[in-house]
Amino acid sequence: MSFDRSIKIAPSILAADFANFGAECEAIEAQGADWVHVDVMDGHFVPNITLGPATCAAIRPHIKGVMDVHLMIAPVDPYIEAFAKAGADVITAHVETTPHIHRTLQAIRGAGAKAGVALTPGTPASAVAELLDMVDLICVMTVNPGFGGQKFIDMTAKIRDLRAMIGDRPVHIEIDGGVDPRPRRWWRRPEQMCWWRAPPSSRAARSATPRPTARTSARSAPPPKAPTSDLAGRGSSRA
Ligand code: ZN
Repeated sequence: MSFDRSIKIAPSILAADFANFGAECEAIEAQGADWVHVDVMDGHFVPNITLGPATCAAIRPHIKGVMDVHLMIAPVDPYIEAFAKAGADVITAHVETTPHIHRTLQAIRGAGAKAGVALTPGTPASAVAELLDMVDLICVMTVNPGFGGQKFIDMTAKIRDLRAMIGDRPVHIEIDGGVDPRPRRWWRRPEQMCWWRAPPSSRAARSATPRPTARTSARSAPPPKAPTSDLAGRGSSRA
């Protein structure tokens, strides 16, 4: 797996038929999804309950690429090992769920997964300033977590701040919530997020094969001077 800043599409299985996860994961990959985003909710940190490690383990064989597990649960530490054993490539924990997010991120990497940290809309970019060298992904929530299908909340300023803070580090910025394919003016600015901005040939291909939308992992701006071997290999290559 090697890190790169190409745009990734990571549909959430929240939008899937819950009685048919395996086939749904295979279908979104067949339509070009780069990662499969798995939203785990506990009815405590967020007002909804979705699924747990057993379900992740069950769908793992149906995912050829990256299984990107977003834990919206508190406490989170007792469950990290279980999700890693279930085959999660990326495990993301919320900074709001623990006073010891540093320890949580250490535990995620210690379990063999890539470490992500997520921010709800009310949490500033500065909350992860001391964590930049120990994360592989920063998830910017563009809805208040808890349900699928909510309206997108513009977090442009936070994303811009994070991008500047990250610099050349091999860290993904993931935009999660309310993402849809309708063009937004700020997406077209190259210095900001632009995950739907693709070469004309790619755009034509996408319009010919609509893909499910929900969560999008994206990066922006110039490639790092010295790409570091990291996240992105499995299932991340596409035109
Ligand atoms: Zn998510």
